[in-house]
Parts: sequence; structure tokens; C-alpha cells
Amino acid sequence: MNSKSPNSTFPENVVVSGKPDGPLIIAGPCSAESESQVLSTARQLAKIPDVRIFRAGVWKPRTRPNGFEGVGVEGLRWLQKMKAETGLYTAIEVANTFHVDEALKHDIDYLWIGARTSVNPFSVQEIANALKGVDIPVLVKNPVNPDVNAWIGALERVSQAGIKKLMAVHRGFSTYEKTPYRNAPKWEIPIELKRQMPEIPIISDPSHIGGNRKSIAELSQKAMDLAMDGLMIECHMNPDAALSDASQQITPDSLEKILKNLKIRKPEGNGLNDQHTLETLREEMDSADNALLEAIGKRIEITRKLGDYKKNHNMTILQVNRWQQVLEDRVHQAQHLGLDEKLVKDIYQILHNQSVKIQSELLNEDA
Ligand code: PEP
Ligand code: MN
Repeated sequence: MNSKSPNSTFPENVVVSGKPDGPLIIAGPCSAESESQVLSTARQLAKIPDVRIFRAGVWKPRTRPNGFEGVGVEGLRWLQKMKAETGLYTAIEVANTFHVDEALKHDIDYLWIGARTSVNPFSVQEIANALKGVDIPVLVKNPVNPDVNAWIGALERVSQAGIKKLMAVHRGFSTYEKTPYRNAPKWEIPIELKRQMPEIPIISDPSHIGGNRKSIAELSQKAMDLAMDGLMIECHMNPDAALSDASQQITPDSLEKILKNLKIRKPEGNGLNDQHTLETLREEMDSADNALLEAIGKRIEITRKLGDYKKNHNMTILQVNRWQQVLEDRVHQAQHLGLDEKLVKDIYQILHNQSVKIQSELLNEDA
């Protein structure tokens, strides 16, 4: 059994890493482009013992029309041939009933639901219905929007169709914010998924998070450090010439190097000594949190007194100058304490919103 986090274990019969305790590695091109591209990439990947599953999209969800939209059913035959020759398992994306039917007809081993599909409950339900009574591993990518409930909902729909071999794929989230990545990782969302569904292994997709080759190593390491259970990485024999996602695909050689340099740590550390230190630090953390919560409680009590005062003196809740001064002062203190300025600003923004809410409720209590 292969397990990277305290609770999630790969479902029975799901192929696991070549290494004990290693992450599950899924690799292959963004798209199947030709028989020779599929075969030559797979032959290289098959030499890397960690790689057990070969991914390739045959129907591609492209942002704009008239681009390369995948080779369709023909690609499934190339994948069958690839599996017969190399022994690698096959994984493709499915977005509708037709895709599911064709994948099953061609003995595809793993199916994944893409980010543009998992966002739509109608589409996920259609796929789930087509999978009723079928025993196949299914991976559900996070929806494009950062909504953990939509991701959970998609996993539940597939699970309720009777799929037991269920996994999640973290591929990052669309955002208008400027980030160094194609899709913002928002690690707190896969962490929350893990908290709510600890039994579901999460595979990280640094290719679609990063959107560029140079981020893959660093994002893969981060995923491992956060106890993710595997990696899905796009690989192409000639990445620059790829028909889709060229800038993020890497060669099988680069993949091998990245995997070799990965540091795999265990959630439980190296034994009793580590456990002891961990317990002590956790106790310290618990008591620090206790003090923090008491301080927040005290602050809220003062907020109420201020609210009463303002009400009795017919004052507005907000005195912009005072708020400005509080924020500047706290940020200044934060700098002295070596705290991150943005963190402190964000915390005070939340505390201030709460104060305004409490005081405005007080003000209108008898109205
Ligand atoms: C893909 O895996 O090639 C793909 C289209 O992914 P996503 O659904 O994450 O965009
Ligand atoms: Mn892709």
C-alpha cells in the first residue's frame, strides 16, 4: 500500500509508485499527436521506474476554437499499442458520455475529468451516469474556479455512481491576479479537500499550475512537502513543437532529473524522537493559539464598549482617520516584530470588518 498522507491511501488495485512510499507518477504529453509521438515519448518514460501511468489527451478542451482539438478515437488505438509495447497504463480525459464509451471500448485504464468539466454539475453527472457499474479509477481535477465545494461535489457525484477508485488532481485555479504561474495554486484549497475528504489521494499537476517548464521542479517539491500523493507531469519528446501546452511540457530526461532530486518526507517523520519534538511544539502552538483567541475575545469586548459609546453620543461607527491611524500603527509594530506586513494588514482588515459589523448591529438594535 502506498500512502503519502496520514489518512489517504490509494484505493485497492490502483497502480502505485515503483518505489515504496514514493509518489504515484503519471506522465505523458498534453495531447496524443501522432502514433510515433505517443510511442517515442512512452518508450523513454517507461525507462523511468517511477512512471507507471501514461497520460495523453485525445479530446482537448481549447480556450479558442479552430486550434488543435485532439485526434479523437484514433489516439485511443495508439494508446492501446503503446500499452502493449511498454506496459505503461493509459490515462485520458473524458468530458462526455461519448468519451467514456470510447475509452471503455478501447480498454483505457484511468479516466480524468478536466478542470473545465468538473466545474459543471450537469457534465459531471453525465459522466458519472455513464460510469455506473464500471470498475475504473477516476481522477477529478479541481474546477477552474477556486471553490472547494464544487470540487467535493464533483467527487461525490462520481463516488455515488459507484466508482471506488477515486482520486483528485490539483491543477490550480484561474485568476485575474498577477501570479508567476498560469493557474494560482491556492494550496489552502487542496489542503481543505484533504481535511474534508482525507481518504481521497490528491495528485498534483505542476504542469498546469506552473504553465512553464522552469516551475515544475519547485512546484513538485512543494506538493510533496504538503503530503500530496502523486504528480501528473506533461512530457513530450520535443516540447517546443507540441501542439498544445508547449511552454509547460518537459522532456522525459528532464522528468527523470526532477524526480531524482525530489525530497520525499514522511508526515510522521523519522521515529520516536521526531514525534516527541513534534508533540512539544504542538503543545506550544496550542497555548499560543489559546492566547491569540483570548486576545481576540478581549478586542471584541472593547469593540462592543466602543459601539455603546458611539451610539450614546450619536457618532458614526467609522472614523476614517482613526482606522487609518490604527492600521499604520499596527503595520509599524509588525515591522518591528519582524512580521510580514501583508499578513498583519490582512488580519487587521478582517478584525476591523468584524468591529464594523458588531457596532452596526449594536447601533440598530432598538431601531
Ligand atoms: C490537461 O490535462 O491537458 C488539461 C486540459 O488539463 P486541465 O483540465 O487541468 O486544464
Ligand atoms: Mn495540457
